Amino acid sequence: MTRVFSARNEALKNGCNYHIAAFLRRKGKIIRVGFNSKKTHPFCRRQYEDGTVAYEMHAETNVLRFARPGDELDVVRFTKTGISMAKPCRFCIEKIVEKKIKKVRYTNWQGEWENLSIKALDEH
Ligand SMILES: [Zn+2]
Repeated sequence: MTRVFSARNEALKNGCNYHIAAFLRRKGKIIRVGFNSKKTHPFCRRQYEDGTVAYEMHAETNVLRFARPGDELDVVRFTKTGISMAKPCRFCIEKIVEKKIKKVRYTNWQGEWENLSIKALDEH
């Protein structure tokens, strides 16, 4: 849990309107922690359903660069007062599937863990 608390401090300082931390786990050990941040690289271009374009490095994308098939991913959203919804967006889900991540957990509105259900992941 100490890893989670230090991540919380980092996440809250990221200069964005929201604060997400992603933990990449391999064989039960956290091997990398990433945060969302503003980035201008084309790789981080996001076009949303309403047409809005944003350049953001999501916390998941940040750590997925280092992922190997079979790794697991935990995603947490920190607010100033607690923990909130951190369900990966469709861009990150694409990368999760591409990287063959075995299991993904995210915190829900109540701050509790939920397993991300993706058909491509369930087939493993
Ligand atoms: Zn995302």
